[in-house]
Amino acid sequence: MSVTAPLVNTRRTVAVTVGNITIGGTAPVVVQSMTNTDTADVEATTRQVMALAQAGSELVRITVNNIEAARAVPMIAERLQQARLEIPLVGDFHFNGHKLLAEVPECAAALAKYRINPGNVGRGKKRDTQFADMIETACAYDKPVRIGVNWGSLDQALVTRLMDENAECSEPKDAQEVIHDIMVTSALESATQAESIGLARDHIILSAKLSGVQDLISVYRELAARSDCALHLGLTEAGMGSRGIVASSAALAVLLQEGIGDTIRISLTPEPGGDRTREVQVAQELLQSMELRHFTPAVIACPGCGRTTSHYFQQLAQDIQAHLRDSMPAWRRQYPGVEELSVAVMGCVVNGPGESKHADIGISLPGTGEQPVAPVYVDGKKTVTLKGETIAADFQKIVDDYVRQRYGQ
Ligand code: SF4
Repeated sequence: MSVTAPLVNTRRTVAVTVGNITIGGTAPVVVQSMTNTDTADVEATTRQVMALAQAGSELVRITVNNIEAARAVPMIAERLQQARLEIPLVGDFHFNGHKLLAEVPECAAALAKYRINPGNVGRGKKRDTQFADMIETACAYDKPVRIGVNWGSLDQALVTRLMDENAECSEPKDAQEVIHDIMVTSALESATQAESIGLARDHIILSAKLSGVQDLISVYRELAARSDCALHLGLTEAGMGSRGIVASSAALAVLLQEGIGDTIRISLTPEPGGDRTREVQVAQELLQSMELRHFTPAVIACPGCGRTTSHYFQQLAQDIQAHLRDSMPAWRRQYPGVEELSVAVMGCVVNGPGESKHADIGISLPGTGEQPVAPVYVDGKKTVTLKGETIAADFQKIVDDYVRQRYGQ
């Protein structure tokens, strides 16, 4: 038996078509992202959607929170069309979505999917009618809907009902377990309600986001066990920088490994002035690290240690990584399969030659006390030894030539 189990998305969900993308079924896990611009600012939002799409986001969600934002949606969609960018737009609705969709039919038509938070649809009797209005609009325009539960905005009527039921039990669950039950019940009951209104199962995606890693894993396991709807995964309010990346990856990796999850978003808080496309990059790197998908050639680099003479190899690894990433938009079209390329940049002779031989192309830089030469390995064989001031440029040219020869049509 193989030590490494094959990594495939084993949980078969109902496939949902969102614009030109399929989520669920046998489709690969889809990367999505969300803008943080004011949607009413058509220019800024279009620019950010383009940047996210260019970075590899396959769907982009935008806030639709007022009439100006709703009116801007068709204009944004038109600009994207003019730029020949086919990227499905998802409208994020809270509180007034029923009104906005009814008042701006062009918005309802331009969006590829609606996200509805069942906790923010309305209070009391209005909740059901407003939810029904949005679902009827989705049916009328043949749009899929994500029923997106978030533990920060739970349906209060459901909270009261399940808390009361739990209190009457002979062995009541603890508060955390009840919150998990509420999340799952909210998603499943809302999906059942949407189906009863006429939305087909292949138009429904579910999510139930929390900010705790263990909480998220428990809730999604339960959701996956009780529904065959496609699932959108994401740790909500993941945070900033390494905290957000590590927490999101820890939670999503466990679920993806179990075959749970059809589309992911990494909810990173950008640093002030930071790049919004970082969340797309992290999502891609997570899927690529797990060998679920390939997006960009992999750069394998050693961490460096006391045997390295300088930061030269770190710089080379960074430059090669940036060169590969920058080249990918064009390479993806010109050189199909190039995303599976692996390049090793190693700091000394200890692991350098071995690791370089395992990669498609590898370079082993000289460590302390070693001769100032850098052997290059291509397809496991040493082909040339670089030296002098132009090692970085020469190595980059070797990579480019290899890509052209191996992946060129
Ligand atoms: S390959 Fe050499 S420089 Fe890199 S971590 Fe190993 S011993 Fe250190």
